[in-house]
Amino acid sequence: MGDLGPDGGNGRVGGAGPVTNAILSVGAGTLACMTVDLAVARTRLADARTEATARVVSLEDQHRAIVEGSRWTTDDDEHDPEGSTIAFERAAVASMLRDARQELRELDEAQARIDAGTYGMCEKCGREIADARLDALPAARRCIECNSVRR
Ligand SMILES: [Zn+2]
Repeated sequence: MGDLGPDGGNGRVGGAGPVTNAILSVGAGTLACMTVDLAVARTRLADARTEATARVVSLEDQHRAIVEGSRWTTDDDEHDPEGSTIAFERAAVASMLRDARQELRELDEAQARIDAGTYGMCEKCGREIADARLDALPAARRCIECNSVRR
């Protein structure tokens, strides 16, 4: 009868191991199921940013060259076919430049969403954005379903 005391103590010590292991394995499982791989997402964003930055620099050069080139043809745009071609080119490059700068802003916002822990969630329906879509468009804010419904 006096032996029951030590037995109770053994039971308590024996129980601690399995419980701790169970908690650890549940934790690992939760991590594995998490939405997007943030390390992969960061790499994609960095690559996209490098590409977009190079595009902005190149388009700025083109735009400057067109603006400087157009000084020589100047004030007779309406009667000079070359002048209107230059105006058209300048507008096209300016438009691409706006797009490239917009893309950079969106990549910045995506970066901020990674830091905030909301990256990869559709801003409209809140569901996960497919990884294939994030691979193609790292700054995507909406899932394919929501993006195809423009209202
Ligand atoms: Zn959605």
